[in-house]
Amino acid sequence: MGLPGSGLAKGLAVTLRTMTRRAHTAQYPDVQPELPPRTRGVIGLFEENCTVCMLCARECPDWCIYIDSHKETVPPAAPGGRERSRNVLDRFAIDFSLCMYCGICIEVCPFDALFWSPEFEYAETDIQDLVHERDKLREWMWTVPEPPALDPAAEEPKEVAAARKTAEKLAAQAEQEKQEQQEQQEKEGDA
Ligand code: SF4
Ligand code: SF4
Repeated sequence: MGLPGSGLAKGLAVTLRTMTRRAHTAQYPDVQPELPPRTRGVIGLFEENCTVCMLCARECPDWCIYIDSHKETVPPAAPGGRERSRNVLDRFAIDFSLCMYCGICIEVCPFDALFWSPEFEYAETDIQDLVHERDKLREWMWTVPEPPALDPAAEEPKEVAAARKTAEKLAAQAEQEKQEQQEQQEKEGDA
């Protein structure tokens, strides 16, 4: 059994230690929090990449993505070619009052049209205002952080390797043609 009053002394010591430590309270909104770059705040739409494939709307577990579109006929690219039809986006909206921020829509989009932005300050007093239409979703795009730098030890992507090889081949061909032209000009000069 300890000395009488030792419990009280220990308690006071803890209180004193805590009182002299710096508080960890985040002073939001005066100080903005430092969020990790992959924070799921809001979803941005880069509609130029959207082909209206409907995959995101079909896979969304909450059915909170609304897409409307119509078909347009595109004339053939070359004479004698066939006309093509393409989907034109009329409406793209996400209801953030239903969204559960699972990220499935972003994962399944095959055309990189949806991105996470860390922005989170879009609370509304009217729940209907949480339906963000395409213009609003585009605005969020400008708050999407740049992707992290590639790992320097990572294997070169196949597309980049193929493009680099083609560029090197073309550069070598151009160099060879230049040398041949110079040699030809020198021969003509000697003659
Ligand atoms: S994050 Fe999930 S719930 Fe929200 S819109 Fe995308 S798929 Fe739907
Ligand atoms: S999955 Fe991507 S490309 Fe398809 S409709 Fe959704 S955002 Fe557009």
